[in-house]
Amino acid sequence: MKVMKFGGTSVGKPQRMKEVAKLITADDDRKIVVLSALSGTTNALVEISSLIAAGDRNEAKQKIWELEALYYQFVDELLSDDQLISEAKKILAEHFEFLTIILKISFSEALNKDILAQGELLSTKLFCLYLEEQQIPHRLLPALDFMTLDTQDEPQIGTIKVKLSQLLTKHKDTPIFITQGYITKNAKGEVDNLKRGGSDFSASLIAAAINADVCEIWTDIDGMHNNDPRVVKTTRPIEQLSFEEAAELAYFGAKILHPASIWPAQFYNVPVKLLNTMEPSAKGTLITEQAGSTGVKAVAAKDNITAIKIKSSRMLLAYGFLRKVFEVFEKYKTSIDMITTSEVAVSVTIDNDIYLNEITRELEAYGTVEIDTNQSIVSIVGNEITETKEVMRKLFDAIHDIPVRMVSYGGSRHNISLLIPRSFKDQTLGALNAGLFGLE
Ligand code: ASP
Ligand code: MG
Repeated sequence: MKVMKFGGTSVGKPQRMKEVAKLITADDDRKIVVLSALSGTTNALVEISSLIAAGDRNEAKQKIWELEALYYQFVDELLSDDQLISEAKKILAEHFEFLTIILKISFSEALNKDILAQGELLSTKLFCLYLEEQQIPHRLLPALDFMTLDTQDEPQIGTIKVKLSQLLTKHKDTPIFITQGYITKNAKGEVDNLKRGGSDFSASLIAAAINADVCEIWTDIDGMHNNDPRVVKTTRPIEQLSFEEAAELAYFGAKILHPASIWPAQFYNVPVKLLNTMEPSAKGTLITEQAGSTGVKAVAAKDNITAIKIKSSRMLLAYGFLRKVFEVFEKYKTSIDMITTSEVAVSVTIDNDIYLNEITRELEAYGTVEIDTNQSIVSIVGNEITETKEVMRKLFDAIHDIPVRMVSYGGSRHNISLLIPRSFKDQTLGALNAGLFGLE
């Protein structure tokens, strides 16, 4: 079996949704199709929910009407059969009535999750009606029937596995299943979600749970690229990455894949393919256990990084200093991304500075603390990077006039990270594109 996941833009226009129907019927493989909400919907729902939370019911009502109008138009363009159109409109009425009723009851976090779930519930139901119109045999598999979180809000892969296998056996003649990305039940049995962009994570969990042959993530770009296309002019897709390389890239800024979605596929060894709905025959990027080749494959950058340097004269020949420093971060549930040390000082970076003041205050007990905000981590990702001829020289040549604040290598064999001021990010990515890839 295989899993095919389509993101918001791939289903965001009636025409695109029709293309998806073609893609899922291009072969006879039995499959589970995971859909996001139509592009823009989750953002709109987040806005509606915050308006309701703020007590701004009139504005919320206005936004609900606007969204509703979009969906009515969508249905008119998607379907042509009168009976199916009226069925679709009944579904829209139901979901938008639900949103309108919510306006009248008092707001809670559980209600917020219910609101956010509407996007994926709608996209999958409308898509199923289109498949029905096209007489494509299929079945809607509600994610809320098998996706579950434990009390730590972590997906319960064991339970998901059991429930999915029961459902697949029960409907053993169904060739195509449609399900929602993003939404899940939580440990309390309420509707919840896997956080923004979580549909990739859903797809990877499902693929792992059914031990799929492949997990295809369909978006609007032809795979993971070697650099950020929003910053540099020329980028090219990467043919193959290992799970580790892909995880580094996803975490350090490549927007195409949600970072959490790597581990289920990796743990259950399901190959992941990143493919382009606009150009289905393009190769895309294959992510497997094997790296495919050696050398540098990509650079990516992550913004809004804060660097913290703790300098202690007592660190000289002392032990236990790092533990004390790390304990402060642990106490404030703040994870550290990069770390470099010298004999008398340690520098770390964090991307979440909610507790920066508290952390600084406690660290001052151990030495002088210096903070640099508005930094970026530029990550150079590849396989056996430093064993590859000339890479280090090319890298340092390329960045010779960038004020690099930290350098980290050796944590793994596939990542060199540089910390630079955010204002030098574009220049750095451009210089690395030329120096490492020979691209403009
Ligand atoms: N619809 C959700 C979002 O926009 C989940 C997803 O698209 O992955 O965040
Ligand atoms: Mg998305």
